[in-house]
Amino acid sequence: MSPNAFAGAQLTIDLDAISANWRALGARLKNGARAAAVVKANAYGLGISAVAPALYDAGCRAFFVASLDEGIALRSILPDGQIYVFFGPTPKDAAEYSRHRLIPVLNDLGQIETWRARSRGDGGEKAVLQVDTGMSRLGLPPDEVARLAVEPERVAGLDIVYVMSHLACAENSGHAMNGQQLEEFSKALKSLETGSAFAAASLANSSGIFLGPGYHFDLVRPGAALYGINPTPDKPNPMTEVVRLQGKIQQVRSVDSSRSVGYGAAHVVTRPSRIATVPVGYADGYLRSASNQASAHVRGVRVPIIGRVSMDMITLDVTDLPAEFVHPGATVDLIGGPYSIDAFAADAGTIGYEILTSLGLRFRRRYIENGEVREAAE
Ligand SMILES: *Cc1c(COP(=O)(O)O)cnc(C)c1O
Repeated sequence: MSPNAFAGAQLTIDLDAISANWRALGARLKNGARAAAVVKANAYGLGISAVAPALYDAGCRAFFVASLDEGIALRSILPDGQIYVFFGPTPKDAAEYSRHRLIPVLNDLGQIETWRARSRGDGGEKAVLQVDTGMSRLGLPPDEVARLAVEPERVAGLDIVYVMSHLACAENSGHAMNGQQLEEFSKALKSLETGSAFAAASLANSSGIFLGPGYHFDLVRPGAALYGINPTPDKPNPMTEVVRLQGKIQQVRSVDSSRSVGYGAAHVVTRPSRIATVPVGYADGYLRSASNQASAHVRGVRVPIIGRVSMDMITLDVTDLPAEFVHPGATVDLIGGPYSIDAFAADAGTIGYEILTSLGLRFRRRYIENGEVREAAE
């Protein structure tokens, strides 16, 4: 593709920062706990084929993905390392898990039965058992935990490497759900201990790590914090930023007072203004909900997004900037750098997770690795 096809927009992904974040999280853990890396959804949109090897090089050996397809793709990238799959097997696809050495998360008694049928004969198939403590999404509900506690033969022959659950409100450290889920999880662990050797436990996502050592158990499962999203939104971000999206001004025009800008005439200028157009839009994952709400930065100076975000373009009010700052080709910081991903997400009415996983493929992507910049191969 010709460089011009990207219209100059550039997404820089700092793999060194991801590795540093993985190490920083590991350093926070209580003795004996380890950190896996959650790399579902193409490593939160950042490119699993670059992110997973960087994490592996940093020492990470356990990876979580959402689906079987993601697990198979990751296995082709990482021949070693444990790969866990959140969704777990169906009778149709269980054999694929074995073939690619993927460890399923078993989310109900039916999946346990499916995976046991698979392991019959050779035995010792590894699995993670998920119990639901408040998400009501995946994992054994309380009545199934109780059943399993009195019928441990249901997991006979399986090698349950972890019992896990997932926190619903961990980013809000004061939320009562945290303590309630911790208690329910601890009770479930205790009830399942009898009769079978459930070796280890896993509860915390990124934010859960910051709730304290009582939440660490044996394995933590951070995703967002690795990618620079603040796991403690009510405090300064302890993580290193990972992404920076920059565009280039395509055109600058002067408009008279009372002229409208963009679709729906959603913005009307109230003074003679200069408007800069940057070719990045919602088709690139620059969410339309940022219309008239978010900001960009030119040479570190904040400029408001005015009017609606179009499919391929946004418009900035650059009236207050010196003319020599704003010319076609001038760089504009859109996300990251002076404007954190969390700040942009808040202005767009969403969370950093959605911003990351929406960032499109129309950008020129660059990775920073071992201090060097390289263009993405894809
Ligand atoms: C996505 C996910 C994680 C990672 O959560 P973050 O908030 O991104 O750290 C951990 N556990 C489960 C079950 C998940 O689905």
